[in-house]
Amino acid sequence: MTTARQAALAIAIALTPIATGNAAAQDLVITNARVVDVNDGTVSEPTTVVVEGGRITVIAAAEVPESATTVDLVGRYLAPGLLDAHVHVSSAADARRALLQGVTTMRSMGTSHYVDVGMRELQAAGHLEVPQYLAAGYHVRPPAAEAFFQDHPELGHLYGQDVRGGEAVRAMTRAIVSRGVDFVKTNATERAGLPDTDPRRQFYSEAELRTIVEEARRAGIPVAAHAHGDAGARAAVLAGVRSIEHGTYISPETLATMVEMGTYLVPTIAIVSDLTIPGGDYDNAVLNIRGRHMLPRVREMARNAHEMGVKIVAATDTGYGPESTTTLAHELIEFAGIGMTPLEALRSATTTAAELFGLEGRVGAIAPGLEADLIVLEHNPLDDIAVVQDVLMVVSDGKVVVQRGDWPGQRPVS
Ligand SMILES: [Zn+2]
Repeated sequence: MTTARQAALAIAIALTPIATGNAAAQDLVITNARVVDVNDGTVSEPTTVVVEGGRITVIAAAEVPESATTVDLVGRYLAPGLLDAHVHVSSAADARRALLQGVTTMRSMGTSHYVDVGMRELQAAGHLEVPQYLAAGYHVRPPAAEAFFQDHPELGHLYGQDVRGGEAVRAMTRAIVSRGVDFVKTNATERAGLPDTDPRRQFYSEAELRTIVEEARRAGIPVAAHAHGDAGARAAVLAGVRSIEHGTYISPETLATMVEMGTYLVPTIAIVSDLTIPGGDYDNAVLNIRGRHMLPRVREMARNAHEMGVKIVAATDTGYGPESTTTLAHELIEFAGIGMTPLEALRSATTTAAELFGLEGRVGAIAPGLEADLIVLEHNPLDDIAVVQDVLMVVSDGKVVVQRGDWPGQRPVS
């Protein structure tokens, strides 16, 4: 039996447009914006940008269209929202913290219980106002996480032993891929962020890494390899991974191979700096000592990589927790320190990152048809990249998420 209420509901559902990307998408007109074009490195005169249905539709509009929401930037700089290529975010509150810093897209490099997959889906459906999220699930690594076996008791025969050899790494990769991840994360070498680990120790052979890459490729998914030591990194590059995460001790020979293979480098320099200072994600005396000798090495490696033409992408490697102090802006300042121009640094967190993510043409620039993920800056980031530390406004999928500071003669959008 159909009641009147059910019938009304059915009509309402029929009339509701199907959400594409984000249910919170709305129209927005941004006036007097100096638009930063990260593709050609130019900045426009103050102009009008129109956003409809969460996407940029017109730049340099001839006249100001009527909109429920109009924001006058009074000549401030409009840049693309930032992409963070390496995070460990496990809650909406932490993800929200990333968004408020101007990160509108981020790539998970590991969480427990496929929290990243679930958050990705909630965000895409418009239920969570957080950055767009690419998921990786668990790391394929010899000592698999305890939680991995809770999610995959079918692989219980590997519990309590190292996941090694073609058959085992294939099974683990297949299990992770089956949960709908966007990237497979593997550890080619041991971790740095634990006091009793040796970050240079190679975990997997080239053959094992090749098996992981092949298995991921069957599902059309790329592989990201954590690697600090050169031997592990080299094996991962030769096996065909899409990105090397960290890369602290990579030799110029391996960097040259990365140029040849088109492998991306995500050096995460700022988080190594966090090892050396109190507070933040890492606060441990042993790691402090390690950080002090790793920091000059990762900077030197990244400088070599940049000079040789390796594609470098910005990332924090943080959880964006309440105690986290590392931001993507800190990484961009590190990139300026290794010799990048401000434009090159900004591209590492926009266009180059979008290519790594396979999202070019959707995010990472300000152009008609792209998602309206935007940040507002007081000064020109192409003069000094450090201005990215102070993001005055964040727009995500066409919605003003936050507007801070003085806005002369205006009431901030809330
Ligand atoms: Zn990490």
